[in-house]
Amino acid sequence: MRFDVLTLFPELFAPHLASGVTRRAFESGQVDVRLWPLRDFADGNYRRVDDRPFGGGPGMVMLAEPLQRALDAVRADRGAAPAVISFSPGGRALTQALVQQLAAGEGGVLLCGRYEGIDQRFIDRHVTLEISLGDYVLSGGELPALVLLDAIARLQPGVLQAASHEQDSFSDGLLEGPAYSRPELWCTPDGAIPVPPVLLSGHHGEIARWRRQRALERSARLRPDLIAAARLAGRLSAEDERFLAALPQAPPRSP
Ligand code: SAH
Repeated sequence: MRFDVLTLFPELFAPHLASGVTRRAFESGQVDVRLWPLRDFADGNYRRVDDRPFGGGPGMVMLAEPLQRALDAVRADRGAAPAVISFSPGGRALTQALVQQLAAGEGGVLLCGRYEGIDQRFIDRHVTLEISLGDYVLSGGELPALVLLDAIARLQPGVLQAASHEQDSFSDGLLEGPAYSRPELWCTPDGAIPVPPVLLSGHHGEIARWRRQRALERSARLRPDLIAAARLAGRLSAEDERFLAALPQAPPRSP
């Protein structure tokens, strides 16, 4: 799949594309990321990409015309009209379900806003999906684009150990349970802390059951909305329901 990123800050991308487990996906072109510096598509000596908002008010607005030229160049290079994804606090919340959907697609254009945002006419004309990272305001769309690329790249075949992302939080609708590693007994000044014995038992059935129960317990405590959604989607077995029914009622989580 291919992503063409329209950005005023292309230099923010390189370290993220060349580090960690996702590096292979980016370097092999499994997730082919091409950067289009918007300044290259600006007009005049000043290479203007932004201007003051009509009607007054603070800040600057990204101009439609340089964006149009950049998009035309991407389209000519791809030989097709790809989906155009933009980032905005008002967009659709980024969830693992949306990541999975995009990871199964052909990619598209990622449009990174800056300043007060992008001239609405360009958004109305071209943007097919607006994505939000959450209810807070960042200074640009580059971090959201990197977050999306990272989440998509780790789902590509061969990036993680087989099936490891299938156990991740949200992929089956629940939070993942806790993880432990060596030493079996961690000696601290406050005493020795063992790992849960079932994990050392070598009994795969028991371990799977224990992990499922920890995922249910953690989700019920921290994110009861996920339990409700999993139930609605028919993802809870009779055994899951028996386990949940036997859990002590947790007091509401403080913010
Ligand atoms: N004036 C805008 C915020 C502009 S912030 C408003 O009040 O809605 C500049 C750019 O950062 C935006 O165009 C967008 O691309 C990006 N951005 C900021 N917060 C974001 C968020 N929560 N999710 C996704 N993108 C965000």
